[in-house]
Amino acid sequence: MDATRRRTQNEAMSRVANEAIEEGETADGNSTIDFLCECARSDCDRLIELSAREYRRVREHPRRFIVMPGHQSSDLEIIVDDRNGYLVVEKWGEAGALAEAEQPHG
Ligand SMILES: [Zn+2]
Repeated sequence: MDATRRRTQNEAMSRVANEAIEEGETADGNSTIDFLCECARSDCDRLIELSAREYRRVREHPRRFIVMPGHQSSDLEIIVDDRNGYLVVEKWGEAGALAEAEQPHG
């Protein structure tokens, strides 16, 4: 397994956890909940506050992830949005293709 694939899998695991969090949200989707930072660091346990609605909007794009400011990997992804307290990053190249291939809901 090469480094890009391993790092992408770290992110995919965070995404699986976050989808469970998002699906467990039974309110109107506007209340703020804690999602895991979806960066490539295997030891990252930072939490990002956003609403389930905001998270779903990011997830409409299979190549997009939420990360803490400073946790982006400039060799794997570009910043597409700088929100209040977190960044939305989009994978490009091989990392983007892997992110699409490994997204939990196919
Ligand atoms: Zn992180």
